[in-house]
Amino acid sequence: MTYNNPLENTADLPDYGAIRPVHVVPAVTEELARCRRQLAELLAQPSPTFATLVEPVEAMHHRLARLFAPVSHLNAVANNEELRTAYNVCLPLLAEYHAEVGQNDALYRGYEAIEKLEGPRLDAQRQRVLAYALREFRLAGVHLPPAEKARYRALMQELATLQSRFEENVLDATQAFLRPVRDEAELDGLPAHVIARGRETAASRGEGGHTLPLDYPTYAAVMNHAHSGALRRDFYEAWYTRASDQGPSAGRFDNGTTMAQILAARHEAARLLGYPSYADLSLATKMAPDAPAVIAFLDELAGRYLPGARAEYAELEAYAGHALEPWDVAYYSERLRTERFNVSEERLRPWFPLPRVLHGMFEVARRLYGLTVSERPAVSTWHPDVRYFAVLGADGHEIGGFYGDFFARDNKRGGAWMAEVSTRLRVSGVSALPIANLVCNFTPPSPGEPAELRHSDVVTLFHEFGHTLHHLLTEIDYPSLAGINGVPWDAVELPSQLMEEWAWRPEVLPLLSAHVSSGEPLPAEELERLLRSRTFHAGLAAVRQLEFALFDFRLHAEYDPARGPRVAEVLDAVRARVSVLTPPPFNRFAHSFSHVFAGGYAAGYYSYKWAEVLAADAFAAFEEAGVFDAGTAGRFLTSILARGGECDQMEAFVRFRGRRPEVRALLRKDGLAA
Ligand SMILES: [Zn+2]
Repeated sequence: MTYNNPLENTADLPDYGAIRPVHVVPAVTEELARCRRQLAELLAQPSPTFATLVEPVEAMHHRLARLFAPVSHLNAVANNEELRTAYNVCLPLLAEYHAEVGQNDALYRGYEAIEKLEGPRLDAQRQRVLAYALREFRLAGVHLPPAEKARYRALMQELATLQSRFEENVLDATQAFLRPVRDEAELDGLPAHVIARGRETAASRGEGGHTLPLDYPTYAAVMNHAHSGALRRDFYEAWYTRASDQGPSAGRFDNGTTMAQILAARHEAARLLGYPSYADLSLATKMAPDAPAVIAFLDELAGRYLPGARAEYAELEAYAGHALEPWDVAYYSERLRTERFNVSEERLRPWFPLPRVLHGMFEVARRLYGLTVSERPAVSTWHPDVRYFAVLGADGHEIGGFYGDFFARDNKRGGAWMAEVSTRLRVSGVSALPIANLVCNFTPPSPGEPAELRHSDVVTLFHEFGHTLHHLLTEIDYPSLAGINGVPWDAVELPSQLMEEWAWRPEVLPLLSAHVSSGEPLPAEELERLLRSRTFHAGLAAVRQLEFALFDFRLHAEYDPARGPRVAEVLDAVRARVSVLTPPPFNRFAHSFSHVFAGGYAAGYYSYKWAEVLAADAFAAFEEAGVFDAGTAGRFLTSILARGGECDQMEAFVRFRGRRPEVRALLRKDGLAA
């Protein structure tokens, strides 16, 4: 078959080399029209069944997602003005379509009728597909009377705008801050690339000397390395007052009102759907059973970590020789770490050339799950550095594949992530294999040399490979529950955080490391230092995450329209319980807490810790049986990895572990006695 528009070919791998911005809007518009036509036809059937309604809807939405996946991916990794414009035209079109489907009464009633008539005769997988879809309808407000339905949709629109404004304010406030360096001595301790950036920033403004911006790498470098306390203090103040009524741009981008509006809209939406609070609505799609369970979980961890965190802090003050200001903590912590463990991420780089790391990581996948990962040349990609890997299962059949885009470059979003290109599909007449994008932002190599990774990069790579395996090893036939789809937010980081553990194992490091010139594996004493430094200040790091999680959760759970947002009040109460250091009165951390106010972590920030407990406990099973134990790996595969969103996550965990999760393994990993 030939296509005028390469996006329309959803049967093969995307032809990235042929996709142009001009293809985007016509392909998406045409596909949405096709979906609407097909939906109308499906609903016109006299008595639809699972096979004649649910399966075609799954296949239809698989095609829509597959068609748009390369577009959103290119927007993230090969961005340009024209593509961004086309992408932004499509987003509201897609949102409108999905809202329309979510509130489609006839479709909802069709699914309900199928559940009633066929439900008991369907296998477990199909029953879960129905149950999941029905829940999604209810969470989109399908059952509401017309006026409330409209109000719910209006609230969703309003929230989209408010959350985007919150993010814009944070971005604008970040960019508004520039710190000229009057005295060169203030640069002492900073890495060369930060100083160079300061020089470039000054030059771009037609000034001499150095001007430091507030981007994250600069901020982190100043807090960790700048000897000048005055410089650190300025950066701390600027960072923690962004988009607020305090600090260098006080009142200019203030998120105070936006936060109040976001909390009010979320609460109203939750009440419309019949939930007492937004926290309860958030938990409707999560593994954690209810609000008291989340609070109890976080409280228990706080109790476990606080003594250690207090001791770490006291030791740090003793090391510094004076009481610490908030802008001193990271600086002295970094110095103490370097002194105590004599580890340097930069020094270890030559032992981790990317080809060797990939080889070792694929070897781990072979030993655990019998997979063969091999590069396939001549696949059309978006950049010459990008590589495609085909994955064969234990029986030698191709189960899927993934693109590896490893290096930082211009017009590519920062960070690391796994994204779906295609989800596994197997319904009457149509099938597709799972395909993923694995994206990182490692320092690119010099021409002709292999890239050399830091060990923390290796850990990141394993993390994203864990998500990739979750996506590829699925045995679910329906895209709505295959791979990571339908997996609760607080369980989805289990396979990824679990995979990280192999990057720390003495059994695995010789597979992963080979010095670029000598080929020698990482020396035992370097390995020893690296492993020992892993738990350094784990208590302080944990109580900080617990503070964020408790604040986020209580803010949404305790919201009362009559009393308003009470952001400062809730934060103070949480800090009184779990914080080791008291921030200065001008600190407005919440005003730039984008995860919760602009992103998907609202009343769900606890998910990080929740999944960390699962991952540590799951890995303990491997430690007990041997890190390459085939039986344990097989059990993890069949209980959790292969089943995606098809299973109850707690039941799946119990099937794998033989009992419910316990926090002991995480505490042990963080160097705390259980
Ligand atoms: Zn992740």
